[in-house]
Amino acid sequence: MNRERMPIGVFTSPVEGHGPGVEDLLDMGVRHVQLQTPGPTHRSAEDARRIAHRYREAGIAVTLVFCGFPGDNYESIPIVRRTVGLVPPETRQQRVQHTKDIADFAALVGAQGIGIHIGFVSEDWASPEFAAIARVVAGLADHCADLGLTMNLETGQESARTLLHLLETVDRKNLKVNFDPANMIMYGSGDPLPALRQVGDYVASCHCKDAVWSDSPGESWGLEVPLGEGDVDVERFVATLHGIGYDGPLTIEREIAGPRQIEDMRAGVRLLQGVKEKLDIA
Ligand code: MG
Repeated sequence: MNRERMPIGVFTSPVEGHGPGVEDLLDMGVRHVQLQTPGPTHRSAEDARRIAHRYREAGIAVTLVFCGFPGDNYESIPIVRRTVGLVPPETRQQRVQHTKDIADFAALVGAQGIGIHIGFVSEDWASPEFAAIARVVAGLADHCADLGLTMNLETGQESARTLLHLLETVDRKNLKVNFDPANMIMYGSGDPLPALRQVGDYVASCHCKDAVWSDSPGESWGLEVPLGEGDVDVERFVATLHGIGYDGPLTIEREIAGPRQIEDMRAGVRLLQGVKEKLDIA
């Protein structure tokens, strides 16, 4: 039997009440998920086995486990710059260890890889900051490789050309990109579709998310909106993914909570099904 190309997935949490649960997923017809990593007290080996069992029983594949760190703060772009990912030096060492723990957890869950926001990578490629982050990413990619995992860098906080330069500098086979077109708009870091083509060789997963440009891109947030209602042209996005040879999951991300999130995801599933049919991707 041929594997379905671009199966539709969603980004959720294995913690009950945070994002769609297994019943919701089955009801939506979704068989692929990316999972937000649970907090440090809920990711023991036993937790991982329990989560793996729950999704496997339901016939749902866990593709990525996404890293999150205590102290990450997405309140505004300047605060993200200071607090998110591996870039802030004060928390780097501790978060490197967290990332390794999350990778160990992801392997036990049976995921293919981890996803991570590494933070605002310096656009000055000759700077010590750029060299330092490249070293950190290389070490973590090697840890993931030992576990048979990919390490997928989430797009948005840096330009596509800097992301590409980082990927080429680190030069690890299992270092990939999780392409999120809405982040490029929300952070004001560039037009998503040319960026997707630029890093296309590295794209191993994606977020289907939508957003509207801010009046001051790069200074204040663009607004995240339901898929199909923003400035990401979803049909062209999927066509561009197809064009670069991507056939992995189309994972819907919606950054709100509660029943509305599930309804918006359900509408997103229908939208993507329509786009796939139109583009003759099955
Ligand atoms: Mg995303």
